[in-house]
Amino acid sequence: MSAAAYKRILLKLSGEALMGDDAYGINEDVVSRIVAEIGDVVRLGVQVGVVIGGGNIFRGMSGAARGMDRATADYMGMLATVMNAMALADAMRRADLEARVQSALRIDQVVEPYIRGRAIRHLEEGRVVIFAAGTGNPFFTTDTAAALRGSEIGAQIVLKATKVDGVYTADPKKDPDAQRYHRISFDEAIGRNLAVMDATAFALCRDQKLPINVFSIFKPGALRRVVMGEDEGTLVHS
Ligand code: UDP
Repeated sequence: MSAAAYKRILLKLSGEALMGDDAYGINEDVVSRIVAEIGDVVRLGVQVGVVIGGGNIFRGMSGAARGMDRATADYMGMLATVMNAMALADAMRRADLEARVQSALRIDQVVEPYIRGRAIRHLEEGRVVIFAAGTGNPFFTTDTAAALRGSEIGAQIVLKATKVDGVYTADPKKDPDAQRYHRISFDEAIGRNLAVMDATAFALCRDQKLPINVFSIFKPGALRRVVMGEDEGTLVHS
């Protein structure tokens, strides 16, 4: 029996998390470190779904800002998440962690399509499922994909991995008096205008009563502590 607080989690990793201190792309050392952290919780018996972003490669909004058609740019952004998913899955393979990539856009020669039942089956068999291509729709984000897939697979919590170790009263880089919220309700977060996830993702989690824990993926052991139900980062609850 695992002492973990959750049986099934949905981990949202931004594309930028894979970049480390590089200016662009995928940093292999950083990816290996993230995989090691994920491996620790898989070995606790926790079922792990991952939604990966693409911001380290391409963001639809920045394409649109340069005059591209927004939907086209968003599809490019979704394809960027597929590359990240493949890099992450390959790093897992090298770390002897079983993983499958499922894409919301069909690229059958490369990765499995997203099939909910099959994803759940993989999870039950101890495989990490990496959900690529966001929701498969332009004008959405991978945060929303995390809320959506988390709800679909019956995850008990969405873990949002960021560079900052939680939600603060102000930007901790600019304000030395900024305080971290340990726990905050959805309503309080709205009332205080805190940007926990984008508005669509946040609304979906709130409706589904799916808690969100914001934490830093770069803090060693933080993912494990969140999964153990310890006070790590910020827990947003109903
Ligand atoms: N995207 C999209 N629909 C989705 C998810 C993502 O169109 O359901 C596109 C969008 O252009 C976004 C890009 O993919 O900018 C990369 O995702 P995101 O910005 O969420 O990645 P992150 O910020 O987490 O790295």
